[in-house]
Amino acid sequence: MRVKINVVGIVQGVGFRPFIYRIAVENGLKGYVRNRGDAGVEIVLEGEESQIKQFFEDLREKKPPLAQIHDVITKKLEGENQYKKFTIFRSSEEAELSGSVIPPDIAICSDCLRELCDPNDPRYEYFFITCTNCGPRFTIIEKLPYDRENTTMRDFPMCGFCQKEYTDPLNRRFHAQTVACPKCGPKVYLTTSRGKLIKHKDPIREAGKLVSEGFIVAIKGYGGFHVVTSIVRDKPLLRLREVKHRSQKPFAIMARNIEAIKTFAEVSESEETLLTSYARPIVLLNKNSEYYLSDLVAPGLHNVGVMLPYTGLHYMLFDNADDAAFVMTSANPPNQPIIKDNDEALERLSDTVDYFLFHNRQIAHRCDDSVIHMHNSHQVFIRRSRGYAPAPIMLKAKAKNCVVALGGEQNNTACVLIGNKAFVSQHIGDVENLETKVFLENAAKHLVQLTNSKVDAVACDLHPKFTTTKLAQELAEENGWQLFQFQHHYAHVAALMAEHNVKEIVGVCCDGYGYGVDGEAWGGEIILGAQSYSDFKRIAHLEKQPLVGGDLATRYPLRMATGILYRKADVANWLLKNKQHLPYGEKEAQIILKQFENHSNMIETTSCGRILDAVAAILGVCYERTYEGEPAMKLESTAMKGKDVLKLKPIVKGNILNTSEMLLEIFENTQKFSKENLAYSAHVYLARGLATLAIEAASENKIKTIGFTGGVAFNEITVLTMRKIVESMGLRFLTHEAIPPGDGGLSFGQAVACGFSQF
Ligand code: ZN
Ligand code: ZN
Ligand code: FE
Repeated sequence: MRVKINVVGIVQGVGFRPFIYRIAVENGLKGYVRNRGDAGVEIVLEGEESQIKQFFEDLREKKPPLAQIHDVITKKLEGENQYKKFTIFRSSEEAELSGSVIPPDIAICSDCLRELCDPNDPRYEYFFITCTNCGPRFTIIEKLPYDRENTTMRDFPMCGFCQKEYTDPLNRRFHAQTVACPKCGPKVYLTTSRGKLIKHKDPIREAGKLVSEGFIVAIKGYGGFHVVTSIVRDKPLLRLREVKHRSQKPFAIMARNIEAIKTFAEVSESEETLLTSYARPIVLLNKNSEYYLSDLVAPGLHNVGVMLPYTGLHYMLFDNADDAAFVMTSANPPNQPIIKDNDEALERLSDTVDYFLFHNRQIAHRCDDSVIHMHNSHQVFIRRSRGYAPAPIMLKAKAKNCVVALGGEQNNTACVLIGNKAFVSQHIGDVENLETKVFLENAAKHLVQLTNSKVDAVACDLHPKFTTTKLAQELAEENGWQLFQFQHHYAHVAALMAEHNVKEIVGVCCDGYGYGVDGEAWGGEIILGAQSYSDFKRIAHLEKQPLVGGDLATRYPLRMATGILYRKADVANWLLKNKQHLPYGEKEAQIILKQFENHSNMIETTSCGRILDAVAAILGVCYERTYEGEPAMKLESTAMKGKDVLKLKPIVKGNILNTSEMLLEIFENTQKFSKENLAYSAHVYLARGLATLAIEAASENKIKTIGFTGGVAFNEITVLTMRKIVESMGLRFLTHEAIPPGDGGLSFGQAVACGFSQF
């Protein structure tokens, strides 16, 4: 019997062909396997029917851990047997095919970890030990095909031993482009803050010891530098916060193992699975009752972001220290991308850190750690980056147009859509300056190049002043691409529809800010999405509220609260009482009050984020937003310990959900109820109100699906409350699981909206 098989999915650079070779030879089959780029891997088998049957069983059950099979297409071939043995063909044309899939960086596998700790292994204590089942990919690949010459491993010619393993089809390191050993691979070294070499026979463990003693060490990893310090010592943490200009933003930590995490945080079964997965993301975990870390790690929050070691280097770091974990935050100057080059690190971090732990492999593409939060059994990406990007999101249908989408402004990503694959880039950050603009442009171009896409259109936000909008205009002009501008919240809803393959939806989209089709500031919207991502309509929204002082109202939520309650309560006295929380004190308070009196400088917004901010200010939970989402995050942390005491019924007039009355109730009850209970009540009011509007719209339009997207969908209490109400009505409730609900998912939404539209 002769068959031809096409396997589509993540099957390149993950040890898939050697695996096929192994199971073909084991089953006595002849033929070949080769890469076909877009079409995945092509296999021809010749042998007995029973042997082929067994081959398919092995294919399903024994596939390499990194391989993801999206589809298997089998065709019977006519004619006589042609092959005398089974061969792995090295195909040269694979880069010419479009839509190739590059695997993400993957954590060290258990086999490599075992060898790392085995004194008899040639790679004993080799910090960058890897095989075909693990190690960096995306961060070292410069171009396709994925051969060592096209990666930053080209600087490290293999020694005889590594070469032998590399060329043995039955070895775990067959064609592993990252194969290296202490003799031939990248080296690691410790320096002072000024870059002076410190001679030490064990620089990694020495670095860990220094961290444990209270020093700050910058450590180079796969995708960039981390700044590493103690989790219990205030002094270095304070210093770090000062120099990073991060007074409040939580730091991520890396724990030595799962048991260590459990000493300070709660870990559910699904969280443990995620923590130990090949992607090794940072997982947001609830602090437990024994939490003993410095308050400077995650101030004012009920949870803390934790990850496990993902390279040999990380494991070794803990060997000479007793600490359960280290603070491990990505090294990026304010509003800049994560630092990846040694020179750049020396130049920019010398004043921040005491030591550097460098290695001498170049990072081709920077990549931050991913961050995930579990809402019960549902996975919510806060940031989708290392371990996930640039593996594509698979769509059910093929797009008409090949698109590059550039996203919005905050927490941005880029996305390339080709056929039914959407390649979302690593985390780029806030695109407001030249450095992040260049990073975004390079990341987008790199994705186009890796996937060998012939781009038809470039998609961006509707906001006329976003840096990304301007970049899209430039790229459209330069390359003759169609320009496609798309409304922010429509894009969020399109993303949700595409992720779940639904043709129509009532989308609840709540976030901080997006430019509306009417030019106004939107952020608490009910949107009808129909006809496969091409037809959107705003059908309801939150009450409009004044943003006094524009961006200042976002930074200082007291302004928001004052604006909403002005003329409804004695808010003037309250503001004056809290004047110390405004940068210019009484003077500023007076100006704010005057502006309300004269009704001047008043933009309005329907933003849900700003409502949560205002509640945070009224309850005294947060007066200044020093990082994105801070007041709302701290409000949620407060609400975690509360219950619904106000039991407010949603006030809906026409298609508008009233928010003023809820704020007033909270304002007037601050003496009567605890802030925890009031914070919880506010969440429930919004969730209930939004669910009511959505359910009404669903029944009017005969739609069975309601979705929740936008940055507010990070908020666990709101999501769980809304889910309960919607599902109790017999409707389907959808949230994002493959991309972030916040603006990190915007590029994906723009890409699908553009990719499926006619122009
Ligand atoms: Zn491995
Ligand atoms: Zn070697
Ligand atoms: Fe948004």
